[in-house]
Amino acid sequence: MHIPSKLPDVGTTIFAVMTRLANEHGAINLSQGFPDFDCDPELIDHVHHYMRKGMNQYAPMQGILPLRERLVEKIATLYGATYDPDTEICITSGATEALFEAITAVVHPGDEVIVFEPAYDSYVPAIRLSGGQPVSIAMQPPDYRIPWDAVAQAISDRTRLIILNSPHNPTGAVLLEEDIEQLRRLVHGTDIVLLSDEVYEHIIFDGEPHRSLCRYPDLAERSFVVSSFGKTYHATGWKLGYCVAPLELMQEFQRVHQFVTFCSNTPVQYAYADYLAKKEKYLELPAFYQQKRDRFQELLRESRFRIVPCRGTYFQLLDYSEISDEPDMEFARRLTIEHGIAAIPPSVFYDRKNDYKVLRFCFAKTDETLERAAETLCKI
Ligand code: PMP
Ligand code: GLN
Repeated sequence: MHIPSKLPDVGTTIFAVMTRLANEHGAINLSQGFPDFDCDPELIDHVHHYMRKGMNQYAPMQGILPLRERLVEKIATLYGATYDPDTEICITSGATEALFEAITAVVHPGDEVIVFEPAYDSYVPAIRLSGGQPVSIAMQPPDYRIPWDAVAQAISDRTRLIILNSPHNPTGAVLLEEDIEQLRRLVHGTDIVLLSDEVYEHIIFDGEPHRSLCRYPDLAERSFVVSSFGKTYHATGWKLGYCVAPLELMQEFQRVHQFVTFCSNTPVQYAYADYLAKKEKYLELPAFYQQKRDRFQELLRESRFRIVPCRGTYFQLLDYSEISDEPDMEFARRLTIEHGIAAIPPSVFYDRKNDYKVLRFCFAKTDETLERAAETLCKI
């Protein structure tokens, strides 16, 4: 039997590969992005409470109303945007589902989708499964800013979608006001849709505001904005996320959503609906992770790794060009097997081949883990 692959160029995602390798070799796992500390026990109590209360059957397709209402209120407070909780928001099983559905909802065969490399690894396969053509534009180290002239040249009458991600995984770059201005100028008067992946909206440093596309009415009116509870509440394994979009886009989104998962985990939705009242949990997050970023950077000051600026997310890029000439995949494997530290080789986030000597390290870890990891990294 011969079944032609729909994704012939795609292997197993790097997150599964590196975590497996880390576990096999007992390495400190700074590869896949997740905390090594637990979520708030109170949040677990909420889930338990709703399970005991019998909230164990299907939720409504677009998510439970109290959660949609709380999220819409939060977005109004933080970003000044108005969404209708009945028709303009959908709860999903992680941001991954929301990204897939937004792409599937609008990309037709032959459509072009602009993505910025390095790009989170789920975007391009989703575009390809819809028959779309990814048009990748590279952001250059060490700042990883979007080259807007290249975007202007790449836009054609087949451009359907532009995918943005700020704070950006894996580089830690964030959108600045100039970026927003350029984006506005380029999409004004077109039918281009925007997909804004904002899962790290609360992990942004040095007093920089998060420039959610929700803040800008002319951009919000053409945008799917996606976020995730996993990053914000230290519960990546619960896989809950959401998408907000204006009515017309959200209708298309839900046409897909109803046949992908239909709905997401009910008791977890109720738990978050209550827990969102604790605003300090997300308002304190920039300071919490900035302290970890600074600690990790300080611990590495004497190492031969060069620190790439990190303005958001819980990832730190480290340049290893003084240490090795190996391609990042090989160096990452050797670092795991020989030195016991697992990291992500960012080349997997590129369509085009490149030979940048950097690795991505997750610092959502206890100080003790960061200290142990840094001690080894300083000896290399
Ligand atoms: N987008 C980006 C940029 C991410 O880093 C991640 C996961 N870390 C996701 C989407 C997926 O989020 P989730 O785990 O909620 O599916
Ligand atoms: N987004 C997480 C990261 O960048 C991992 C998500 C996953 O394992 N698919 O590390």
